[in-house]
Amino acid sequence: MSRRHIVSLLFIGILTLVTAVEIAPARLAAQTLPTVVVLATGGTIAGAAASDVQAGYTSGQVGVDQLLAAVPQAKKLANLRGEQISNIGSQDMNDEVWLKLAKRVNELVAMPDVAGVVITHGTDTIEETAYFLNLVVKSRKPVVLTAAMRPSTALSADGPLNFYNAVAVAANKDAAGRGVLVVINDWIHGAASLTKTSTTAVQTFMSPLSGLIGTVAYGQADFYRGPVGRHTSDSEFSLNGVTALPRVDIIMAYENMDGALIAGAAAAGARGIVIAGVGNGNMTQAALNALAEQASKGVACVRASRVATGRVGRNVEVDDDKLGLVASLDLNPQKARVLLRLALTKTKDTKQIQKYFDQY
Ligand code: ASP
Repeated sequence: MSRRHIVSLLFIGILTLVTAVEIAPARLAAQTLPTVVVLATGGTIAGAAASDVQAGYTSGQVGVDQLLAAVPQAKKLANLRGEQISNIGSQDMNDEVWLKLAKRVNELVAMPDVAGVVITHGTDTIEETAYFLNLVVKSRKPVVLTAAMRPSTALSADGPLNFYNAVAVAANKDAAGRGVLVVINDWIHGAASLTKTSTTAVQTFMSPLSGLIGTVAYGQADFYRGPVGRHTSDSEFSLNGVTALPRVDIIMAYENMDGALIAGAAAAGARGIVIAGVGNGNMTQAALNALAEQASKGVACVRASRVATGRVGRNVEVDDDKLGLVASLDLNPQKARVLLRLALTKTKDTKQIQKYFDQY
């Protein structure tokens, strides 16, 4: 072997060693990191505008790969892989996407190598999707929804940090068993408690009645408590064999309301009606008469409130016992509708439905 051969062999050897030393910790880290699967559904977090300082934009323009690539820092928290479930503004959220999403989440959380799931979503209906999943996902593993108020192209877009924090929570063992969570603007909300309170503000989400589950700052999560109601692994609702959800309509109460919309909802095929009542779930006598009539015909009728916060109590100003009505208690109208739809997959009995509202 010539001297030149020996020198080049030595060079190759050193190069291999140096490369191995450099790659080994990265590989080891990747092996020890938890795996988090990102399911993208659209929303402003995937929205784009023509300029970074304009109000008008279109939701659901950016795909899951671009979303992941925009936050490379999240790869240090978890092994990430993405799937596109839909790419819509969440004002267009529908049962087809819900059933597909819930099925996929249940498949993923059943996989031993998956530590948690992050779902990117629009803010308009995130509370409904989160609460729906909270009732039908069968796992204690973290399932975390996140969103943004500003599109990905905006100056000071809030999506990247929300996404980073959501991955941190989904990868965090302490998030397990706390139900489906929504991570946005540094706060960790429970699916049953959060609600959107501002049409435009970044600090739009609040959990007004029962408070936050925790906070998360640059990936550092602190948990204060679990959610109040039954959820996920403890929920008796299941989508096994369910291919369609029953129709439930929400009708808002107002001054001088008559019974026309209530009768109309039933005529359109609603099996349940949620009234977003005034005050403590109240409505005009005419509306109450129309509601009681539908209740007597077997339509499940729930009284919620159009007021942003506070409980709707049973038998306060309305005799629910006599009229066969259900009180929504802690749930706002949009979440009462979710629970009622799932309740109707099991029963029409309003006493049993009230029990579900007591527990979930
Ligand atoms: N309309 C948007 C959506 O819900 C709003 C948002 O994501 O903030 O998809």
